Amino acid sequence: MKVVFDERQLLHAPAQYFRRGQMIDHPEQPQRAILIRDALAGAGHEIVQPADHGLEPIHAVHDRGYVDFLATAWPRWVEATGSTVPAVPNYHTGRRQSRPPAGVVGALGYYSTDTACPVTEGTWQAIYWSAQSALEAAAIVAGGARVAYGLSRPPGHHAYRDASNGFCFLNNAAIAAGAMADRVGKVALLDIDTHAGNGTQDIFYARGDVLYVSLHVDPSDYPPYYMGYPDETGDGPGLGHTLNLALPPGCDEAGIFDRLDQALTAIARFSPQALVVSLGFDMAADDPLSEVGMTTDGFRRAARDIAGLGLPTVLVQEGGYLGPSLARNAVAFLDDYGLG
Ligand SMILES: [Zn+2]
Repeated sequence: MKVVFDERQLLHAPAQYFRRGQMIDHPEQPQRAILIRDALAGAGHEIVQPADHGLEPIHAVHDRGYVDFLATAWPRWVEATGSTVPAVPNYHTGRRQSRPPAGVVGALGYYSTDTACPVTEGTWQAIYWSAQSALEAAAIVAGGARVAYGLSRPPGHHAYRDASNGFCFLNNAAIAAGAMADRVGKVALLDIDTHAGNGTQDIFYARGDVLYVSLHVDPSDYPPYYMGYPDETGDGPGLGHTLNLALPPGCDEAGIFDRLDQALTAIARFSPQALVVSLGFDMAADDPLSEVGMTTDGFRRAARDIAGLGLPTVLVQEGGYLGPSLARNAVAFLDDYGLG
């Protein structure tokens, strides 16, 4: 399988993360992508570089002011603060936001929803090329391949139309799905990351041409907390085109596959022309952020079941952190996708 990756994606390397009252090492490290890339190359998959598909497909799903902010935030921050510490917001709009202010410190709070997405010198390059890797995978599939994998890192599915959230800045899978929808018509986006794809849900909530189906741990007491509930089903032309299948914390593999069966049935009923998969590996039992118990054999089975839909498929990397099975699960999923 073609695996799309660009070295510039490694230029975002956040050091710390404020979690439950403590500063801890940031889980979203460049090493994640290096481990996956090297394991896939070792297993015989072909690593390819993305072409530059430009900003147009990014603007198609993101607010232009937000994208402009991300592209310029770092030099503005250095100039405004006289410092090169990572840009983390200390001011938040809450629910009473009205407009982005002119100054970078306030704008940082406006375009961020949490403190998990520090902007550093290399952030724009990393997130831009992460999105381009997803777009290149979409272009490979639109060109006739059955499947391609965008090794997108930093991840994307928590990124809203106009704000960063949960380690995510640009919503790579949504950008790829938007580009596919333009080319082929109806697209289903299946999200099997262990966290709800709140950003993706937000972006497609009122669209009837993209079905968003997500399996994830119940957000009642788990990130992203504020979205991803089963009674959120879409709006306007998108009504009935969002399906949230929540897993209880501690859910075993049988419970996960019960939801996956429901997801695949819903996708088949939608009759899309193509599929985008937000492929997180953080359902793995040994993932540091996991609350459910997926095994490597489970990832193999999930790959075969998803491939069984028989749809042209763009795989886009999401979460999956530095646990012992991360690279092994990626190899297992991609290998078995070919058998489905
Ligand atoms: Zn996740």
